[in-house]
Amino acid sequence: MKGPSVVIIGSGPSGFYTAESICKKINSDIDIIDRLPTPFGLIRGGVAPDHQTTKKINVKYTKTAKKDQIHFFGNIEIGKDISIEELRKMYDVVILATGSELDNKLEIKGTDLKGIHGSAEFVGWYNGHLDYVNLNPDLNTENVVVIGIGNVAIDIVRVLSKTPEEMAESDIPEYALNTINQSSIKNIYIVGRRGPIEAKFTNVELRELGNLKNCKPIIKTENLSDKIVGNFSDRDKRLIKKNLETLRNFSLIKENNREKKLNFIFFHKPVEIIGNNRVKSIKFEKVKLKDSQLEGTGEIVTIDCGLVITAIGYQPKNISGLEISNGIVKNTNGKIDTGFYAVGWIRRGPTGVIGTNKADGESVTELISKEFNNQTKNGRNSLIKIIKSKNLKVTSFEDWEKIDSYETMNTKGSMPRKKTLSIKEMLNICKI
Ligand code: NAP
Repeated sequence: MKGPSVVIIGSGPSGFYTAESICKKINSDIDIIDRLPTPFGLIRGGVAPDHQTTKKINVKYTKTAKKDQIHFFGNIEIGKDISIEELRKMYDVVILATGSELDNKLEIKGTDLKGIHGSAEFVGWYNGHLDYVNLNPDLNTENVVVIGIGNVAIDIVRVLSKTPEEMAESDIPEYALNTINQSSIKNIYIVGRRGPIEAKFTNVELRELGNLKNCKPIIKTENLSDKIVGNFSDRDKRLIKKNLETLRNFSLIKENNREKKLNFIFFHKPVEIIGNNRVKSIKFEKVKLKDSQLEGTGEIVTIDCGLVITAIGYQPKNISGLEISNGIVKNTNGKIDTGFYAVGWIRRGPTGVIGTNKADGESVTELISKEFNNQTKNGRNSLIKIIKSKNLKVTSFEDWEKIDSYETMNTKGSMPRKKTLSIKEMLNICKI
């Protein structure tokens, strides 16, 4: 007996882990829809281009995509081409796995000036994400300020600091590589409103910054107190100790011939961006922590810079028919309504690593197997009908494999692929 018909919206890690989990437990046909012609979401467009080992998880997702039960439908935007309501009429189970695509905004004066970018767009730009290939950030500045001390901030400062040789095995598009190499960037500031103890970055990512060939991390050791005050688990305390040790080791790096400097600045809260059309500087207030809350000191510090990148977290794009609040879709343990579920960042906010999404998929599978016994709605057949009636140009997983081969064959040197940078070109490759 066939299980409920399932459609997953979004083909990033949460979408693929969910498909895999359902496949193992329920005899359902599972369709995965993505608004881009290509699958894998954050793995292709968000994970840093020099973190190829992390991107290899798509080998696992490919195995899942090739199972008989599963079909990929790319280049369909839910909310524009097909509505959520239409999907719910066609499928027994609709699962949202659309992530958190938009940048949180820094709510201070001056953020409308030119030269300020959120991490979603900046990371998307250096990753060849189709939404951001034309961002054209102006890197003609000596000083760059990155706000936030999480792993995304670390990715950004690393990509801005690496030499072409260090990026040789990455899949960064040529336009971004050239813009970064030809930029006048000398000083990068990574600025946190809290301290190294509260920082969100993880140790492996932090340690990488000590090994950059042409960039020296700089940190004032007075910020590196050994006293870990706060409500931390033993595991957190061990990780914090490692981070503190790594930061202390940075201060011991002697090689002063590294041309770029990466300055760690803690306990500085952004208060205003100054400029006249373009950003010229950013003002911070020095802060202290009192009972885990930020307390202003009234002392203002100004950093001159021509580029500000905020890496302060994400929020989901709204799709008509969803109730979004506090950065997530309204849900109870992944359930939005009967037959309607959420997984990944849209379910629980932008936290955790890629593998964290696995548990979401497993818990939604449990819910589905309790709530549904068999297929009652036509699912895939209805989707194919609506695609035809609306004349949508849709890619399949086989089409993605054509794009993938094209990209891997057309690359230069040791770069793993040359990314295709427009939907039109992708559809041409697939002859759609
Ligand atoms: P994050 O880890 O939540 O870090 C966000 C940073 O922005 C924090 O330092 C936060 O400070 C700061 N921030 C937030 N609002 C601010 C404001 N108004 N003013 C100043 N600072 C502000 O987010 P993320 O770096 O975007 O990462 C998202 C998730 O992806 C994380 O789980 C991360 O580990 C994961 N990720 C992992 C990797 C990897 O494993 N290599 C790579 C990239 C991303 P407060 O702490 O004070 O709020």
